[in-house]
Amino acid sequence: MDNFINIVNLIYLASAILFIVGLKNLSSPSTAVRGNLLAATGMLIAIIVTLLNQKIITYEIIIIGIILGALIGTITAVKVPMTAMPQFVASLNGFGGGASTLVASSALISIINQNQDPTYYFSISTIFSVIIGSVTFFGSILAFGKLQGLISEKPILFFGRHVIIILLIIITITLGILVILNPSNLIFLCILIASAGILGLLLVIPIGGADMPVVISLLNSYSGLAAAATGFVLENNLLIISGSLVGAAGLILTNLMCKAMNRSLKNVLFGGLGAVATTQDDSAEDVYEGKVKSSSSEEIALLLDSANRVIIVPGYGMAVAQAQHAIRELSNILESKNINVDYAIHPVAGRMPGHMNVLLADADIPYEKLKEMDEINPQFKETDVVIIIGANDVVNPVANESNDPSNPIAGMPILEVTEAQVIVVIKRSLSPGFAGIPNPLFAADNTLMLFADAKQAALDLTTSMKNL
Ligand code: NDP
Repeated sequence: MDNFINIVNLIYLASAILFIVGLKNLSSPSTAVRGNLLAATGMLIAIIVTLLNQKIITYEIIIIGIILGALIGTITAVKVPMTAMPQFVASLNGFGGGASTLVASSALISIINQNQDPTYYFSISTIFSVIIGSVTFFGSILAFGKLQGLISEKPILFFGRHVIIILLIIITITLGILVILNPSNLIFLCILIASAGILGLLLVIPIGGADMPVVISLLNSYSGLAAAATGFVLENNLLIISGSLVGAAGLILTNLMCKAMNRSLKNVLFGGLGAVATTQDDSAEDVYEGKVKSSSSEEIALLLDSANRVIIVPGYGMAVAQAQHAIRELSNILESKNINVDYAIHPVAGRMPGHMNVLLADADIPYEKLKEMDEINPQFKETDVVIIIGANDVVNPVANESNDPSNPIAGMPILEVTEAQVIVVIKRSLSPGFAGIPNPLFAADNTLMLFADAKQAALDLTTSMKNL
């Protein structure tokens, strides 16, 4: 038996190595597909070994679960649009947290039913799993509702919320201690799940639309920590390792997103800022009146035809319009005329980390053409034409200029497009981006606006270039 457990642990170690190598590969778009496959192989091996190892009473329910899960997974993978990815990820995090709560609770109930006394090690692991899992489940469900538009995306602030949250944390910890001291009293366990759930809801309620992806990344980290705690409950080494990896990866991503938005995590969680600007340095009328120059695809095609270097800046509007394939066609025709084309990728362009990279890779745009902000920023001054397609906040110079700390983008690093000779902005109107503030770039002397849907504009530009 000991030998069998050793072999199982060795196979788990191999799976863990596959997870880690897979994660490392995910850090570059060129190796990301391989990374995904490696990690998925690790998971497949882990599942098979677990099914052989554990004392399984019946395989029927497991097989039904696998079939149902595979069906739901396949349908959602095909149906969920790229723009709905944040709420999709939110729901997955929530199910992860919920599963941890259920598994840890049933492990405790099973021990009680066998009239055994759980060890402190077991009970402490269980309450960690239950608390973090319940916070994650209820917080993620609320995040899903906000992102799906089922409830208001605006931050919901109420008087005394900080005090209520602190009180609830104290109540939750007290209930956790009560569960450890009286494991057979399941009422405490139920109230613990409820109070942690309310805590999850209260932590997400005050967070606004633009900050939601940061919170989802944090909830993703929590779901990993809940899984790691459940690993201690079940004494499953692989669950501990994989849960810790998810927990750490989620925290690193949360930190990177906060940095890219020039926000502290404390400010995101407790600042109550969000999709709606709390202040505006200038009204849209002051910024735009009489200064915006509208152009046509024919006029811009002429400009492009005489350019040597073009940089394309994609943003959320490109994702909405699904314009990536039309943009690749435009790039192809530019390159066929010996014009050098690159893409400037802002870390928070779109609505989720890596949003632009995924869409452009989907259109077979070579990875080496996607340049990160620090690399591309010094190159704008040698650029003849910048095409901004569906981006707004990530090129808003107000981020550099505003000293107002309540301005939602003050201090956020931006793509320094103003340095280029000519700036072409493709969007449908002068509507603001997610931060809800006007963008003086649209009124700059060297900016031309092409008011159109991103995909249609890219198609029209391609046609105009062909007609030259
Ligand atoms: P923005 O949200 O600033 O602007 C998008 C622009 O796209 C809008 O102004 C809109 O203008 C335009 N648009 C919408 N639909 C279309 C269409 N069909 N065709 C053409 N244009 C369209 O996007 P950015 O990518 O510049 O910035 C991302 C924002 O999201 C930042 O504020 C960032 O902080 C925030 N954010 C992003 C996260 C991430 O992980 N990526 C995480 C957290 C926050 P119009 O309606 O006039 O067409």
